[in-house]
Amino acid sequence: MELEPVIGLEVHCQLATRSKLFCRCEAGFGGLPNSRICPICTAQPGTLPVLNEQALELAIKAGLALSCQVRTQMKFDRKNYFYPDLPKGYQISQFDEPLCEWGEVAFEVEKGVTKVAKIRRIHMEEDAGKALHPDGLASSLVDLNRAGVPLVEIVGQPDLASPAEASAYLQALRRTLRFAGISDCDMEKGSLRCDANVSVRPKGQKEFGTKVEVKNINSFKNVERALQFEIARQGELVARGEKIVQETRSFRDTEGTTVSMRKKENADDYRYFPDPDLPLFDVGAPRIERLRAALPEHWLAKRKRYQEQWGLSDYDARVLTEEPATARFFEGVVAAGLAPKVAANWIQGEVLAFLGETKGDIEELKTTSAQLRALIAMEEGNELSHQAAKKVLRRMLESGGEPRATAEALDLLQIRDSGALAATVDAVLAQETKVVADYRGGKETALNALLGRVMKATKGKGDPNVIKELLIAKLKA
Ligand SMILES: [Zn+2]
Repeated sequence: MELEPVIGLEVHCQLATRSKLFCRCEAGFGGLPNSRICPICTAQPGTLPVLNEQALELAIKAGLALSCQVRTQMKFDRKNYFYPDLPKGYQISQFDEPLCEWGEVAFEVEKGVTKVAKIRRIHMEEDAGKALHPDGLASSLVDLNRAGVPLVEIVGQPDLASPAEASAYLQALRRTLRFAGISDCDMEKGSLRCDANVSVRPKGQKEFGTKVEVKNINSFKNVERALQFEIARQGELVARGEKIVQETRSFRDTEGTTVSMRKKENADDYRYFPDPDLPLFDVGAPRIERLRAALPEHWLAKRKRYQEQWGLSDYDARVLTEEPATARFFEGVVAAGLAPKVAANWIQGEVLAFLGETKGDIEELKTTSAQLRALIAMEEGNELSHQAAKKVLRRMLESGGEPRATAEALDLLQIRDSGALAATVDAVLAQETKVVADYRGGKETALNALLGRVMKATKGKGDPNVIKELLIAKLKA
């Protein structure tokens, strides 16, 4: 019997706000344990939550960027469970009326083949704290810095048919959220987390098999590894005629396996009820429309525009829409007046190559779009040779600085003054008597040899056009 997997991802994404969802504490990553807490996020009696408006707007934007319908009425529910890192004994979440529903993610299954997977819902919720179990300590510790950090949970439909599809879906989802400015989606810092629901069924069967939820998948590579292992494990159970148990399993990175954590809870286990501290309120259709109008261009639309409007190749358009900062930098150089294709070549050939070699981050680039444009203008104005411009850019990328000052510091500005070049030309002509004779004898290519000699004598700084004019004039004489 041939089995096919059915996969759906549940993705938690931290919204890029400065403060937490219901208090003024900073929402950043790291820091000393419990250095970013207050009576509200530690659930002291008598405190009340106040919704962070920025978080609400980012959650709406997430829905809009993913083509969801956005609900105008906002309702929060309490999800009750006991865990030491959850001081209130419940998490503020959304149950039956999620903020956004029915969106979609387009992703590439293979080059040129696009598939669309549906998003079932996006709801807002607060993060829990973190329990720590240090080695050699008899007790566990709790860090509440993350408690109350604003999240959206993006629940995908089980539309994914392989681990590779799940990975491609997650990459496309991440890129959409990053381009829309909703989150940095950094899996290492936990601002993007992914759980996978996976089941298997005989090929062609409509009904779903029993699903297992896999947690603690902390990288793109592990999405595929965890799913591959889990699909194989379920396949073996089916082959042995055993039942698959509905449960939550944890992915173990070092072994590449999943282990059972707990039997799966159902929604009733959480005793959801409307949070009386956060009454229903109207989000406002005008707010949704304002956010829709202000939504940054989708990366797929950018990719298309770069090709159709700016004449870039499919490859160039892909590279430049990989990261929002790359697209921003590229568009900045074009806005400063450089032809898109030329800008694309410089960015890929020099800037991205530099970042690749130095393992740098484009967000921390020391050179601005305007500076790159100004540097290329110097090449266009024959103040710098192409090779010299590349050297200047390299120094700018390494240590910052303006193009002209850097070119001067590196002594790379072209010598264009014919008076300054004449002596060098004379010296070369006096030395290269045979080449000169060849030229005068009708061998025109000898001119290039002479040009090369003069260029070398000026250490590449002489303006080749000026030198050529000088050579022709002097050889005629
Ligand atoms: Zn707080």
